Amino acid sequence: MNFSFDTSLAENYRSNSQKIRVMSESWVENNVFCPICGNNQISNLDNNMPVADLRCDNCGGIYELKSKKGEIGNKVIDGAYSTMLERINSSSNPDLFVLSYTENYQVTDLILIPKFFFVESIIERRKPLAPTAKRAGWIGCNIVFGDIPSQGRIKIVENQKMYDPAEIVERYAQVRKLQTDNIENRGWLMDVLSCVNSIDTVDFSLKDMYSFVEKLRKKHINNKNIEAKIRQQLQILRDKGFIEFTARGHYRKLL
Ligand SMILES: [Zn+2]
Repeated sequence: MNFSFDTSLAENYRSNSQKIRVMSESWVENNVFCPICGNNQISNLDNNMPVADLRCDNCGGIYELKSKKGEIGNKVIDGAYSTMLERINSSSNPDLFVLSYTENYQVTDLILIPKFFFVESIIERRKPLAPTAKRAGWIGCNIVFGDIPSQGRIKIVENQKMYDPAEIVERYAQVRKLQTDNIENRGWLMDVLSCVNSIDTVDFSLKDMYSFVEKLRKKHINNKNIEAKIRQQLQILRDKGFIEFTARGHYRKLL
């Protein structure tokens, strides 16, 4: 497995971001399988595609690729804030790869964030560009993927170790059950799943879940019955196979 960027590709480019873009896209194209269907290659798309960078010719899955130097961390810079808000509501939103590389152009980590984990609260508005900038007033965004439930951050490469494609495809299929196109429902589901994740034990109770009421109220200020909403989302998580009900008010994590 080759984890080095092909630096010869960067020779014809002047800006650093363009250099990184061509080297990282080429690396993914040559080394990474499609996490949706397991096809052994995903292809680089033309640069004139507005958001997608790579596409699987087998299943049609589209991907955006963002790269950062150093630790993969919790967030990555993406494009225009307003475009991103529109995108998260659209079914044509690509899945997001986040790749990290070293000073010496070695890939260290690659994670995939499926599109159906994107909610408004993870899109962070950046400060408008200064009046002196070429694109004065333009507002970009960060994707704060650290706030996404762990199920939505699928590790493909960790510390230069590539995970088994079959394992990744299975994991993707599992989390795909969480897909919902209604953005408000999606927000609730992700928030309640994050609460479940933050409980240390496999078995938990409704009482444990109610300890998150205040936290959830701050995120959903217009909802007057947070407890009912929690119970409803737990039922959805049960129907989708993420938890089971063991007794009245008692649950067990399955995945
Ligand atoms: Zn595919």
